[in-house]
Amino acid sequence: MSTLTVLNPATEQPIAQLPQADMAETDAAVARAKVAFPAWRAVAPVDRSRLLRRLATLVEEHADELARIESQNVGKPIAGARAEVGMVANVFHFYAGAVEKHYGETIPVAGGIDMTFREPLGVVGLIVPWNFPLNISSWKLGPALACGNTVVLKPAELTPLSALRLAELALEAGIPEGVVNVLVGKGSVVGQRLVEHEDVAKIGFTGSTEVGREVMRGAANTIKRVTLELGGKSANVVFEDADLERAAAAAPYAVFDNAGQDCCARSRILVQRSVYDRFAELLIDATRGVRVGDPEDEQTEMGPLISAQHRESVASFVDGNVLFRGDAPTGAGFWFPCTLVEATNDDRIAREEVFGPVAALIPFEDEAEAIRVANDTPYGLSGSIWTKDVGRALRVSRALETGVLSVNSNSSVRHSTPFGGFRQSGFGRELGMHALEGYSEVKNVYVATDT
Ligand code: NAD
Repeated sequence: MSTLTVLNPATEQPIAQLPQADMAETDAAVARAKVAFPAWRAVAPVDRSRLLRRLATLVEEHADELARIESQNVGKPIAGARAEVGMVANVFHFYAGAVEKHYGETIPVAGGIDMTFREPLGVVGLIVPWNFPLNISSWKLGPALACGNTVVLKPAELTPLSALRLAELALEAGIPEGVVNVLVGKGSVVGQRLVEHEDVAKIGFTGSTEVGREVMRGAANTIKRVTLELGGKSANVVFEDADLERAAAAAPYAVFDNAGQDCCARSRILVQRSVYDRFAELLIDATRGVRVGDPEDEQTEMGPLISAQHRESVASFVDGNVLFRGDAPTGAGFWFPCTLVEATNDDRIAREEVFGPVAALIPFEDEAEAIRVANDTPYGLSGSIWTKDVGRALRVSRALETGVLSVNSNSSVRHSTPFGGFRQSGFGRELGMHALEGYSEVKNVYVATDT
């Protein structure tokens, strides 16, 4: 059996050595989930709700431990990791409440009664990336379990630790054996097998657009359901009538949070030319204030990148027009400084997902150009608009082709609101009641009542 060495990206030291699943073990996990499905779908909704509530409570009780695991495995600042665990608990609380509120309808028809049911899909495969391992696992697990599915969850190779602990807590909560299965292993082995397996009814995938394409292709043979939460290249659009101080103070955290390894990163900062110079000054000042360093320090706001290879990839984007480069620790750890560059929307840095703490400043003349440039990307995940004009805020919100927007805020995700992309950022929605659509089928039943 091959093993996987898990590193702390802030120290480059190993923190775990784990066996990796192969194809046969993937098949065995799918078989376990298949066996567990009939009993799990038959659990009374009120009891399924209680089990999810208990899991939420256990997450709260183990918040410090989970935050520490996530911080050490991903390099996340501990204060941010704790906030993420808080969201995980909220997600399970939300879906505990949703179990009994996700129901069908009756539809007026001639000659009888027509009704719809929400049926679980069966065994679902959940494939998760390394940037928010615990959060994204919960975004998929919550609705999947609420709908009565059983799951095989595959965390990313670099960050499997928090998902393994979460599965233990699910058992402790009383969720029966076989309902939640976690497999540590390669995407090309475990992930691909889940995608192709005929007993897996659906893949909930979060990751790169490139792998998302492979998942979609692989799912075609079995007409598997897929939801794809993919990459982004989101815009932070700052109009001349915005509160520039507030916008500039927030902008660094819209791209440097999680060291820029965030699908929602507003890594294109579009600024109206009339206020461009002033905004750039304010932004540089604010970026200088981002505290980069030891993730265990409560004051730290940005940790290292996930790996040496990823740092090389991020560095390849910074090749000129650097407006500002911050400080970062030297020595062990995959550190990279907060970096601001001036660019046009045609430059590589504005077209491809950097997934690191690098933002491009791009000027625009007027509202029409702002909309055109913001939409000039294959992606459509997130974005922000900064303006005091409510009419403009709504006009531009409607015109931007993106799944999640915030006005005068960096906010991207909340446990109760839908999250997902337009265009090559994927399809399907996570979080809120919308996510339940992706983990259930609608069944229509007509009963003739005429004799
Ligand atoms: P990735 O696509 O390399 O890997 C994601 C997951 O897919 C991992 O678990 C990996 O092992 C698995 N995988 C790899 N090859 C596979 C295959 N052939 N078949 C099945 N599974 C396979 O992504 P990553 O580098 O882990 O994460 C970064 C990417 O994720 C970025 O592009 C980011 O934008 C995206 N992301 C999107 C969202 C969102 O909600 N839209 C959220 C977070 C991250």
